[in-house]
Amino acid sequence: MAYKFDDNYREKGARKQLVKLLENRGIEDKNVLKAIGKVPRHFFFDETFWNQAYRDIAFPIGDGQTISQPYTVAYQSELLHVKKGDKILEIGTGSGYQTCILLELGATVYTIERQENLYNRTIQVLPYMGYRPQFFCGDGSKGIPEHAPYDKIIVTAGAPFVPEVMLQQLKLGGLLVIPVGDEQSQKMITILRVGENDFERIELDTFRFVPLVGDKAW
Ligand code: SAM
Repeated sequence: MAYKFDDNYREKGARKQLVKLLENRGIEDKNVLKAIGKVPRHFFFDETFWNQAYRDIAFPIGDGQTISQPYTVAYQSELLHVKKGDKILEIGTGSGYQTCILLELGATVYTIERQENLYNRTIQVLPYMGYRPQFFCGDGSKGIPEHAPYDKIIVTAGAPFVPEVMLQQLKLGGLLVIPVGDEQSQKMITILRVGENDFERIELDTFRFVPLVGDKAW
């Protein structure tokens, strides 16, 4: 497969502008901003749409799915407080853009996508770009118990409720970041595992994600 991966002054400049915009929107984590400034988001777009790649918008990536809005990616990444070496499960690989940000932050990433076409694309594109998470294809609403426990779990699709199985796959002190709501809008929720059966839940801002579809979801 032939990919066109040019990162020229125009794209680099647009990326810097995007970082400034995210700072102005309230993203404070310098490491997250640095990662956004590093990952070439236009590589996830057809060349015809490179002029859209550094706008703060979600964009169709085929198969009815979207690459998340940069603000949303930065927002969820900031909430994760990623430390180097964190073992993170990402549910909903999509384009793989968020995956690359987590890898730039120094995490070891397990990422799962239910749509085979998207999975097949990311297993080629990400390594080509130099990013190497552990890829899985299947229903991530059940987590990936074989590789649990995780320091962090991030869900990048809107869930109708918090799947209990995900909570059980967190380490003690582990954190889940998940958008929960109906099909129109979801609240970003963080859940910290503070004890074997103790969890601290915080509800944050409202977003609109594509649905999390699966056994423990829609
Ligand atoms: N963060 C991604 C990016 O930057 O490209 C965008 C993710 S997109 C908003 C959500 C993804 O979750 C879609 O690709 C969708 O197919 C996937 N998805 C939905 N339900 C899933 C499930 N049960 N398991 C794994 N992936 C799922």
